[in-house]
Amino acid sequence: MDDAGTEHPSGWLLAEDSVVVETGPGSEPEADERVDLGGAVVTPGLVNTHHHLYQTLTRARAQQADLFSWLRELYPVWSGIDAEAEYAAARTGIAELALSGCTTVFDHHYVFPRGRDGLIEAEVQAARELGVRIVASRGSMDLGVSDGGLPPDELVEELDTVLAETERLAGALHEPGPGARVQIAVAPCSPFSVTGRLMEESAALARRLGLPLHTHLAETVEEDAYCRELYGCMPVDYLDRLGWLADDVWCAHCVHLSDQDVARFGETGTGVAHCPTSNLRLGAGVAPVRQLVDVGARVGLGVDGSASNERGDLFLEVKQALLVARGRGGPEALTARDALRLGTRGGAAVLRRHDIGSLEPGKQADLAIWATDGLELGGAQDTVAGLVLAGPHRVDRLVVGGADVVRDSSLTRADEAEIARAHRVQARRFAV
Ligand SMILES: [Zn+2]
Repeated sequence: MDDAGTEHPSGWLLAEDSVVVETGPGSEPEADERVDLGGAVVTPGLVNTHHHLYQTLTRARAQQADLFSWLRELYPVWSGIDAEAEYAAARTGIAELALSGCTTVFDHHYVFPRGRDGLIEAEVQAARELGVRIVASRGSMDLGVSDGGLPPDELVEELDTVLAETERLAGALHEPGPGARVQIAVAPCSPFSVTGRLMEESAALARRLGLPLHTHLAETVEEDAYCRELYGCMPVDYLDRLGWLADDVWCAHCVHLSDQDVARFGETGTGVAHCPTSNLRLGAGVAPVRQLVDVGARVGLGVDGSASNERGDLFLEVKQALLVARGRGGPEALTARDALRLGTRGGAAVLRRHDIGSLEPGKQADLAIWATDGLELGGAQDTVAGLVLAGPHRVDRLVVGGADVVRDSSLTRADEAEIARAHRVQARRFAV
């Protein structure tokens, strides 16, 4: 995943501490320790650019609903969230991602019922324990139903509380610079749950603190209608007006974009988290990913929350991105390698992380190692394309900053069965 797309059919990678020193073909350099991965495909660890980890607690609800009906059904259920449930959900969601080859997890949490502290801290703790990198965002909602928004009034917060909490979390948790294990992003939820003023103040805060900005955008036709009625324009124009089309911003979904919108994303360097399975699950449509890539927009992949994509498997999204692009634009719309690039290098660009996303000298040693001797890859001479087309797969080994997180397809630092058991106990509290 370097600029040239270099592949070494029989290659090696030399790492020192947490960093890649060199990669190459043929005979290996001297090293203190050698690991033989003969036959495996080694890719950069995948980078997830959109998720709501807490939603593992409420899978398979509102099964035939569009986005707004789905949200209206789930908001009251989610109001029961607390740090204990968040921790159990985060461990589950992060474990699923790690086992699918993901080494950097982004999470967008925006439900903060009054008096429930420690929700972001609980996610960060889960990521630290399991061994992956996390970019956790302090999300927000301040436009309740009585002011014309979608969420119930009891789930919206005061603007000042949101900004103060965001700044506190950034001060306590955000690590700048290469190799960061924990970072904070600023992420007001969506045009239909946040006031324009909070969008602007969030951007000002993020720019003052040097944090990236994230929100949901242009997910459904209902959102288009909502924006036209409330703001007198389409969602992308609305964001542009607020100063939110810029190279420190990325938006989830971006399904309903005009040709002019796509061009504007390219001109401004605005990023996109493409979440194909979630968009299909909610019947929202398919984002114009080929066009976005062609204009130079930054595009990564996201599993999205597990209440709208019940399987939090990022490698599956690599395959899904390929399938939906071809469903929209024909068989040449996206190659297997294009799709894999979105899930690795693309995601790193979206998160503005120059230290991950490719296996090159100086990058973090974040590796996903895929066995190729299973049933599903038999007969695939091109193992990279075979891997993508035959996905999803459980990763054989996952390395983050040079340390094992998954080995022999099992978590090295946690017990998968125990995570599932603890999660079942918490999920029962959300049963209707
Ligand atoms: Zn989302």
